[in-house]
Amino acid sequence: MIVLTTTAPIADKAVEVKTEKPAVRKKKKKIYLTFDDGPNRGTRNVLNIATQEQVPITFFIIGEHAFASKTQELTWDSLTLAPDSLVELCNHSYTHAWHNRFNSFYQSPDSVVKDFERCRDSLQLKNNIIRTPGRNTWRIDTIQFTDLKKSIAAVDSLQNAGFVVMGWDLEWHYDHSGLALKNRSDDLLNQIDSLFKKGKTKSAEHLVLLAHDQVYEDAEDSCELHQFIKKIKLKPEYELELATRYPGTRQ
Ligand SMILES: [Zn+2]
Repeated sequence: MIVLTTTAPIADKAVEVKTEKPAVRKKKKKIYLTFDDGPNRGTRNVLNIATQEQVPITFFIIGEHAFASKTQELTWDSLTLAPDSLVELCNHSYTHAWHNRFNSFYQSPDSVVKDFERCRDSLQLKNNIIRTPGRNTWRIDTIQFTDLKKSIAAVDSLQNAGFVVMGWDLEWHYDHSGLALKNRSDDLLNQIDSLFKKGKTKSAEHLVLLAHDQVYEDAEDSCELHQFIKKIKLKPEYELELATRYPGTRQ
């Protein structure tokens, strides 16, 4: 017969005193989901997904798109009725650079300013944040960046007219002929992780993502956007924010 005996010493209970450090909440990195070119046939899906997931998103609106058809007028109404805490509406010009005639548009700074003012006034936008069509340009506090030199004068004029110009750090690219996304949500998340890691965003710890409403008319791409948002929400190091929360945008 085997007799089991315990020989282990009895722990001295009085000795063990845990020194708990005060909880330090690590500051989250901010991601700004921005969607350009609406309202159009993809806008409602984007709005529905954001509402379902209760995440903040920013739409950069083309003025004339809000009046282009009865359906788009109704979509615009839905955007304006969405809670301010979830949906922000910014200015992407009235005519989208005279219907994508970018070179001639940016050669005329006064006309550029007028086009953005027309968008602001006709839509009664509540903030002064704008995005230049077809150009990644920034005029936010100390961030001054213009991708193409020929546009510098026009973008400076926009800043002088009181606009805050927000470009983007990363684009969710799509195939322009088929309007299909080029990257899956996991690829995009990897790109985001990498940009933060390498410190390649315009403002440290802040990343502006550019997407386009029209892509999400498609059910499959819409699903991919939904997956992307769900995955972002599961990452404790990230937090989604509205454009007016970006550092330096408050006037
Ligand atoms: Zn655009």
